[in-house]
Amino acid sequence: MSQDPGNVNNSSDIGTNNTMKALITGITGQDGSYLAQHLLNLGYEVYGMMPRRSTPTVWRLEYLGILDRVNLLEGDLSDMAACMRAVAEVHPDEVYNLGAQSFVATSWKQPVLTAQATGMGALNMLEAIRTIKPDTKFYQASTSEMYGGLRDRPLQDENTPFHPRSPYGVAKLFAHWSTVNYRESYGIFGCCGILFNHESPLRGIEFVTRKVTDAVARIKLGKQKDLHLGNIDAKRDWGFAGDYVKAMHLMLQRDKPDSYVVATGVTTTVRDMCRIAFGHVGLNYEDYVVIDPKFYRPAEVEILMGDPTKAQQQLGWKAETSLEELMAMMVDADLKRVKEGR
Ligand code: NDP
Ligand code: GDP
Repeated sequence: MSQDPGNVNNSSDIGTNNTMKALITGITGQDGSYLAQHLLNLGYEVYGMMPRRSTPTVWRLEYLGILDRVNLLEGDLSDMAACMRAVAEVHPDEVYNLGAQSFVATSWKQPVLTAQATGMGALNMLEAIRTIKPDTKFYQASTSEMYGGLRDRPLQDENTPFHPRSPYGVAKLFAHWSTVNYRESYGIFGCCGILFNHESPLRGIEFVTRKVTDAVARIKLGKQKDLHLGNIDAKRDWGFAGDYVKAMHLMLQRDKPDSYVVATGVTTTVRDMCRIAFGHVGLNYEDYVVIDPKFYRPAEVEILMGDPTKAQQQLGWKAETSLEELMAMMVDADLKRVKEGR
């Protein structure tokens, strides 16, 4: 892979569209930052809606060097008035709804907040679009967590029945069907990207890949002794976030709105992901990983593996980064960060 690790490489697309306006909710998150970078490279004017926090949350936009190129508006998705104000002020051509309480484990501890931000938030934004600018194209960040990953359906596509296994999955399913419903009821150009797990050096540290790569770096540099994990037999279809944000944009460029699975088609256990990450710096994960029931979940999504055939055929999209390349990118970034004391 020749691209600069952790950056979206799309220089060949620069300048293909100079006038489009995109509004991204969740712009300070992993995907929001990469998507903002991608859309800026395509010539978009990029606006981001972000909730007020007591400490700064723009470090990912700074990491990508784009903080001064995006326009930030204050607003929380659970506040419909804020959604309406954002649509009225920006008058966007495209809205990408990435804002969410996105951590599955937290959704059992804060189920109502998750329902409000992750579920109702999408409906608030759809309603804002319907009433203020109904020709706005809308992207909803749907998720493989909606499938529930039961072992009798190991490969999931757009026709696989949903069976969410967490308050997060339930909230996302509400947002997903709300988007489909606004498409069918009002003709809103609403697309759902059913994205499987995607990671990067900008992934939140609570997610298992980043927790592992951060620990690998600290253990290698003598700053940590072991790593406590939960169910390491769970299987996930992991890709690189920088690849996945391109699919979001491609969906909104089609003639008709639709839903697409975005995945690599390869599934790997947490155990093997650890093997790869520790192996990258010459360590054996078995010497460091400690199973800790504290990290078990009330209900587990056992296996996720997506069939991206439709996205390949209709969007011309495919995952470009293998899990080995992704883990190397993330471990190297964490080594650099820990060495620099950040
Ligand atoms: P992150 O958790 O990194 O980003 C979520 C963003 O949403 C943050 O900017 C967060 O701000 C913001 N946010 C949280 N609550 C609100 C709210 N009430 N109103 C407005 N914004 C809010 O997630 P990712 O970037 O990884 O994911 C992007 C989207 O894609 C999410 O909706 C996620 O659920 C979904 N998704 C992600 C997958 C993945 O593997 N990464 C897989 C499938 C779907 P703050 O940090 O200040 O709280
Ligand atoms: P998710 O697929 O959105 O829940 O992404 P995560 O990265 O949070 O979890 C992926 C899988 O790793 C799940 O099956 C978790 O149960 C499993 N896992 C095992 N140990 C841990 C851990 O310590 N932290 C997290 N976040 N997940 C873990």
